[in-house]
Formats: sequence, structure tokens, C-alpha cells
Amino acid sequence: MKLSLVHFFILYVTVFLAVLLIAWLFFLRTRRRSQLDARRIFICGSCQNAFAECVPYQRPRCPQCGAIYEDKAVKE
Ligand SMILES: [Zn+2]
Repeated sequence: MKLSLVHFFILYVTVFLAVLLIAWLFFLRTRRRSQLDARRIFICGSCQNAFAECVPYQRPRCPQCGAIYEDKAVKE
């Protein structure tokens, strides 16, 4: 079977889009993983204990004295 120019072009575009899609999915997966790994460092206002918390939308509780952190977090 001999490939015509049109078939070759369609094959080329298909392969190009497939590579682009795979790269995009890989980028999304990497970005999501880095977002999950993003930890924040909090410093307790009561006992000055520094601790890392990976739940970003929740007020962390100090593991040493149990006080709920009130101020804004310091990004690592
Ligand atoms: Zn504390």
C-alpha cells in the first residue's frame, strides 16, 4: 500500500496531536501532584512551635499545644 500525500498529512497531524495530548496530560498530572505536595509552614501563636500542614483550606491545629492557628500561613 502506497501512502498518498493526503494520507501522509492526516497521519502526521494525528501523531502530532497525540504527542501534544500526552504532553498536556503529563503536565496536568505533574502540576496536580506538586499542588498536593505543597505544604505550608505555620508558627503557633501560643508556643511558637513551627509545624507543617498539608491541608490548605483548613485551620491547622498545633500538634504541641493544640491551639488553632489564626494568622495567615507562610508558604514554604
Ligand atoms: Zn502551639
